[in-house]
Amino acid sequence: METPALRAALLAWYDAGARDLPWRAGPGSAARADPYRVWLSEVMLQQTTVPHATPYFLAFTRRWPTVSALAAEADGEVMAAWAGLGYYARARNLLACARAVAADHGGVFPDTEEGLRALPGVGAYTAAAVAAIAFDREANVVDGNVERVMARLFAVEAPLPDAKPELKRLAGELVTADRPGDWAQALMDLGATVCRPKAPLCDRCPVSRFCAGFAQGDAETFPRKTKKADRPRRFGVAYLLTRGGEVALVRRPPKGLLGGMLGLPTSDWRATPWMDEEAEAAAPASAKWKDAGEIDHVFTHFALTLRVFRAEGAMEAEWTAREGLGALPSVFLKAARKGLGASFETLA
Ligand code: SF4
Repeated sequence: METPALRAALLAWYDAGARDLPWRAGPGSAARADPYRVWLSEVMLQQTTVPHATPYFLAFTRRWPTVSALAAEADGEVMAAWAGLGYYARARNLLACARAVAADHGGVFPDTEEGLRALPGVGAYTAAAVAAIAFDREANVVDGNVERVMARLFAVEAPLPDAKPELKRLAGELVTADRPGDWAQALMDLGATVCRPKAPLCDRCPVSRFCAGFAQGDAETFPRKTKKADRPRRFGVAYLLTRGGEVALVRRPPKGLLGGMLGLPTSDWRATPWMDEEAEAAAPASAKWKDAGEIDHVFTHFALTLRVFRAEGAMEAEWTAREGLGALPSVFLKAARKGLGASFETLA
């Protein structure tokens, strides 16, 4: 791999046509991007797309132009502004991080990857992204998009997720002390606009002449994925009983799968699907149950199809407000989302 030529080609492409994003300083800009804005954008983009996150980003930065302003805000105000952006746990982490920067760092973000990583709620990816983009640190910024670009550029045959360390190593070999912030953003732009998951635009790609996947003619088939082993399938019913804004949760028996954890009440999980009458007969409370669809979930040793039934009613349970559902094991979270539909994200 001709690393310097590849780097030069991608950076030249970025210089000529970088996406204009409100948290960016622009390619080659002497003024670095504001770390607060970079951090905020990265947290928002972890769960949504650029077009969806942009109005939220603009609203947040208008209302709270600095990390100290955000840190001083009441929790409820920030939670309300976050509504529609996904899990509230992220908004809580956002506030915890802002308050740590305000209280422990005088309102100034640490300027190294390690310093950023030590902040509450800041993971390896966000720390690397902020270090590179805001402080031009030589950080290796690798998310799913960069993994895909690396898998294609180097035609990595090892399947995900096992290939992750190798893809990270390959990405790291392309990072140098020369413009690391622009490099990270150039790779992000390439993954978002050209080396897309489906139908990559190889004929418009600035690095196609270096791309092993393109040379082989099967670029889109990378990254390889591990074939899911055939697992037995089980079937069950989850019951979403609501009372005003609250949902009935029950604690599972201490032994067994998800032992001792809170979840939606369910039927047994068995080898054959549940018919409507059986599902209603197994319900934890008598109510006007309505079929809300079904979800699939894969456990280590079996796959589960859960029908979700929803009703308003009463039962002996741990009644939990909807914003508390984010802490449920993912199978129940999926079922709750299915049962609550659009109101899941917007009602707190
Ligand atoms: Fe991706 Fe195609 Fe460019 Fe290779 S040539 S990096 S597969 S867009």
